[in-house]
Amino acid sequence: MTKQSWLEVSLIVSGELAEAVTEVLARFAPGGVAVESTAIQASADEYGEPVGPMRVCAYLPINDQMEEVRQKLEEALWFLGRIQELPEPTFTIIEEQNWMQAWKQHYRPIEIGEKLLVLPAWVEAPETARIPLRIDPGMAFGTGTHPTTQLSLVLLEKYLQPGDTLLDIGCGSGILAIAGRKLGAAAAYGVDIDPASVEIARQTAADNATNEQLLFEAGSVTDVRQGMFPASQAPVVIANILTHILIQLLDEGMADLLVPGGVLLLSGILEEKLAEMQAALEQHGLEVCEQLMIEDWVGLAVRQKNN
Ligand code: SAH
Repeated sequence: MTKQSWLEVSLIVSGELAEAVTEVLARFAPGGVAVESTAIQASADEYGEPVGPMRVCAYLPINDQMEEVRQKLEEALWFLGRIQELPEPTFTIIEEQNWMQAWKQHYRPIEIGEKLLVLPAWVEAPETARIPLRIDPGMAFGTGTHPTTQLSLVLLEKYLQPGDTLLDIGCGSGILAIAGRKLGAAAAYGVDIDPASVEIARQTAADNATNEQLLFEAGSVTDVRQGMFPASQAPVVIANILTHILIQLLDEGMADLLVPGGVLLLSGILEEKLAEMQAALEQHGLEVCEQLMIEDWVGLAVRQKNN
């Protein structure tokens, strides 16, 4: 076998952009994409915040097609850069013998909240008291690097009581429902309108050996209300989707998924959309009991008024 050298492409971006950049690089890198993140550090409010930016990095095999692939990759990054400003990528040639090492050193497990550790599916869990959550980077939305997912996990850790049932609306990779089961939910049920996400969520559940009492189906709020799962109400309902969709889901009866006294955990709200969100909550008889922020994203815990 001839020795293979690799071209390392790397960009340092904010946590918010890392997911989009990962997705672009993944299209060109046969071996996958590494996202290096520093830990989520506990902050004064005890819930933690991400520390510093993220390094996203991919490896292209050096061969006859490499120049062509590199050009396409740069083009794709340029398009992404037109939506949100991106730094120039750095290119470094890595000889085969150093490659595995170079690759591995980028995989740092991400500590989230007090109890969770998110890590790529193939990395061995380090010795830790934290609960490992194995997620393949670069698949459905929800690798753990995005601030909105982190806010969701922190809220979940805080509000979910052992034995609760959890409903996850817009499950993506399944990260929240799987985390819920690992944090002691008796059952967790996730829906997503994207059938590909549902497939990935099921696979991720299998990777985490949490398939029991954990179901993912294609659908949304209305399907859950109509009895798609063994439970159509739960003490904890979580949804991490953009504000206008959250509002739409409230109109479809998302708050009716709560048992009396239950808590609805909402993330995916940009700070500038908070007033709009609050007005919708008010309209649905809900009140905010806690608000958390990472960068310019807001996460909310809300309950029915008079409970
Ligand atoms: N829960 C994951 C993924 C969030 S991304 C996490 O926290 O990381 C939001 C997900 O919601 C996407 O997978 C998207 O397909 C899904 N989605 C968008 N609109 C939806 C709707 N109306 N009903 C259900 N899911 C929806």
